[in-house]
Amino acid sequence: MSVPLFPQAVIARKRDGHALTPAEIASFVQGVARGEWADYQATALLMAVYLRGMTPAEIACLTENMMHSGSVADLSGVPGTKVDKHSTGGVGDKVSLILAPLVAACGVPVPMMSGRSLGHTGGTLDKLESIPGFRVGLSLSEYAAGLRKLGVSMIGQTAELAPADRKLYALRDVTATVESIPLICASIMSKKLAEGIDALVLDVKYGRGAFLPEKSRARELASAMVGIGRSMGKPTRALLTSMDQPLGRAVGNATEVVESIEALKGRGPADLMEVTYALGVHMLLLGRATADPADARRRLETAIADGRALQRFRELVAAQGGDASVVDDYSRLPAAALKEPIPAPSSGWVADVDPMAIAQAALQLGAGRVNTAAKIDHSVGFTGIRKVGERVAAGEPLCIVHASSRSSADSVAKSVAGAFRISPGPASPLPLIGELIE
Ligand code: URA
Repeated sequence: MSVPLFPQAVIARKRDGHALTPAEIASFVQGVARGEWADYQATALLMAVYLRGMTPAEIACLTENMMHSGSVADLSGVPGTKVDKHSTGGVGDKVSLILAPLVAACGVPVPMMSGRSLGHTGGTLDKLESIPGFRVGLSLSEYAAGLRKLGVSMIGQTAELAPADRKLYALRDVTATVESIPLICASIMSKKLAEGIDALVLDVKYGRGAFLPEKSRARELASAMVGIGRSMGKPTRALLTSMDQPLGRAVGNATEVVESIEALKGRGPADLMEVTYALGVHMLLLGRATADPADARRRLETAIADGRALQRFRELVAAQGGDASVVDDYSRLPAAALKEPIPAPSSGWVADVDPMAIAQAALQLGAGRVNTAAKIDHSVGFTGIRKVGERVAAGEPLCIVHASSRSSADSVAKSVAGAFRISPGPASPLPLIGELIE
């Protein structure tokens, strides 16, 4: 007869620095998914993993157990090589909103299961939900049907797919256990493997606004995820990209939806488009739309220029119950009561925009969650964020704060102004795209 694995015994083994056995990992994941482990026990183990780490074998085992904590979507009825992309999380990272319809418009089906805001980073689901009526909680059959019809479906973790991750993700968000390679790797890969993909492109962020600021740690995470993807028979590539200033000029939820629609209309900020195209090229290559990277890039640019990507986004919004007229009328999105510019204190060049300071201010305005039950204010955030390397004149806005009240705007004004460093001499734009891990 097997001895029951009590949570406290499993926690103690990890606390003391041992590698957990497959049975211990399975008991943890199943215990969390079935509600047999209390939240305080799950978070104690998460913290022990955060502090002690995991071996590659433990990470693979954790990922597989989390993937099988619910159903694994069967998308075999959807023709084509289905490719998703996932980002490890950043500030102003709205690439998914642009890339999913764009790649689908180029003929590669994109089954995309995304997360909510986590720690200081925004979440694709929260952004999508700023579109009135948009449903991210589709059933698995609605998800597959959407994918068959439009070549793209954007959903949240259903009760069916990777339920253990949904629970753990929410607990990590509020217990300072996000920044852990084993936990990030298992979280992302379990979701991706459960959603029915054939191949995966990962955007692994490094820099101050990333969960793992050091490039070497980002590389380690990328290699771990690429290895797991390959071991599960799903070709996976990871691109390291910099998160040393917010991506694009908008941070928040509705503010980022507007910027994404603008990008689909061909008016996206250069850095946002550079990351979008770089990832899109690998999606088209893995999706076998073409074997030539230059051709892939051309196809992506053409789908934006001729309006097919925007049209696909419109159809996606309508298919998931959202108000597709937001595409032409941004006033249908939630709008903040107050829009307040933050003036440049002096003339010069923008030498730095601290993504963490902007993210913390966005959180304080209400754009993210401070605990699992917290409600998001979809209207608040920032627009018009000036980029490193740009010239500004004294008094010109460094960004516009979108706040629900005067006191809320005032509460972040100082820290937002402090996020920008203006230098008297020219500052070069930051390099954005790092290496590819295959
Ligand atoms: N994104 C995820 O899905 N999970 C993490 O742990 C971090 C980023």
